Amino acid sequence: MKRTVRRLTPGLRSTRQRRAILEAVAAEERPVSAQDLHAHLRNAGQSAGLATVYRTLQALADSGVLRTFSTPAGEIAYKVCEPGHHHHLICTRCGRVEEIPSCEVQGWAEGIARKRGFAVSSHQADIYGVCAVCSRRRRA
Ligand SMILES: [Zn+2]
Ligand SMILES: [Zn+2]
Ligand SMILES: [Zn+2]
Repeated sequence: MKRTVRRLTPGLRSTRQRRAILEAVAAEERPVSAQDLHAHLRNAGQSAGLATVYRTLQALADSGVLRTFSTPAGEIAYKVCEPGHHHHLICTRCGRVEEIPSCEVQGWAEGIARKRGFAVSSHQADIYGVCAVCSRRRRA
């Protein structure tokens, strides 16, 4: 018989550490990789091991507290997202992610689906490109 007890992730044992890691992710300007967050925590005088940072970020993502994005270098990066349905503008140059709190594609998605006899339960849409800061920098 299969047990699922291991889902009570060991990384979440210390709520203090979990909170510190969550706060550190929230303080980042853009999604952050485990390695970078570990370095930032260390610079701030906090002593979380890299394995713990990895595990905790993964557990927070699994439980829906953090969203994962990929960095321009192709690493997994974590971000605290607004609650509820929303979209993102993602800069492929600097990795900045902007939250788009409104949803303007709901009607389009339902129209497309209805024509094909498809019942929509949800949709996702993120927009990729170069952010205003990076565009300005490129022109300068
Ligand atoms: Zn978001
Ligand atoms: Zn950018
Ligand atoms: Zn939407």
